[in-house]
Amino acid sequence: MQKTLFLAATLALSAVFSAGASPSRSPARTVQVRPYKGPVYSIFFHPLISEPREAFAVSSKQVFMDEWFVTVSEFKKVLASLYQRGFVLVSPRQFYVKEADGRWEKKDVLLPVGKKPLILSEDDVNYYKTMRTHGVISRLWVDPEGRLAGILTLPDGTSKVVYDNEVPQVLERFISVHPDFSLDGARGIIGETGYYGAFGYPDVANPKAFDHDNQVYQATKVAQKLRQMGWEFASHSYDHETAVREPDAQFEAAEKLWMKEIGPIVGPTPYYIFPFGELWNEDRTRMNFLNSLGFSYYFGVDRRASVGYADGSILLGRVAVDGRSLRLGAPSLRIFMDTKKILDPDRASLKYR
Ligand SMILES: [Zn+2]
Repeated sequence: MQKTLFLAATLALSAVFSAGASPSRSPARTVQVRPYKGPVYSIFFHPLISEPREAFAVSSKQVFMDEWFVTVSEFKKVLASLYQRGFVLVSPRQFYVKEADGRWEKKDVLLPVGKKPLILSEDDVNYYKTMRTHGVISRLWVDPEGRLAGILTLPDGTSKVVYDNEVPQVLERFISVHPDFSLDGARGIIGETGYYGAFGYPDVANPKAFDHDNQVYQATKVAQKLRQMGWEFASHSYDHETAVREPDAQFEAAEKLWMKEIGPIVGPTPYYIFPFGELWNEDRTRMNFLNSLGFSYYFGVDRRASVGYADGSILLGRVAVDGRSLRLGAPSLRIFMDTKKILDPDRASLKYR
């Protein structure tokens, strides 16, 4: 225990002001920290389902929505479980650093004793048509007060502004109550494709559209707000296409479009999330090209958060938290949650299985 260090941390005051009582300061609490040597965990989500009845209604997309998405209430339960089990949100950059000589080093980051580091990511925060017509918000928006809002379009065509319906919103509220769920302000990584614009602004990908400039402006405001909150960004490819179906020349042209249209909105990033979790690391042509665009951290999907290295890049596995893994009680989720306690009753009542 020689290496154990002590850190006096004054916890943010979630001060309790009962009526008539005078405000009092809580005493500084000592948190014991030590260099963390264990695994870094990693999970990912897709945009959240705000309206389960719409998402799970009988339609051609019913199975799609059930398999790949979790609901707002499920996400809230997942967060509570992660916190209760000692996970703390971190950034990959805090743990994995590429040294000047090109070697990757895993840092022994100081963590409170008993805490486990967790990288959280959210893929496809583009609000494709399928999502926005099946109970997911249609875009993020920074409201006139500077808050991160979501626009939810209802089946009757009307829209409402919502503040507790997407991963960054729900997470922010959770961290305001549990500040020690985040290490040094870390939040997560948001993966953006390009073919449908960014953050629910499809005309970003359509330079000739009448609304193009305004949508770029709105999407940029969203990205700035998320960055202030502690979020980082990743490319999730431009086309979200499998390597089998997209020849290299077409792929490279599309990735250049990502750098041109989405890059300026989210800012430079070393993170790249493979579409469909397909591992491209064996494909030297593709990897050399992506490395030349400035990417060096690559994220896939697997049953545990594996770590691998390939020609100057690091490959990080992620565990999927989606309807399918929740419903099946996937063993990969066992360390994070008891899936039976997470499943939304609306989902469990689906009849088609
Ligand atoms: Zn995806």
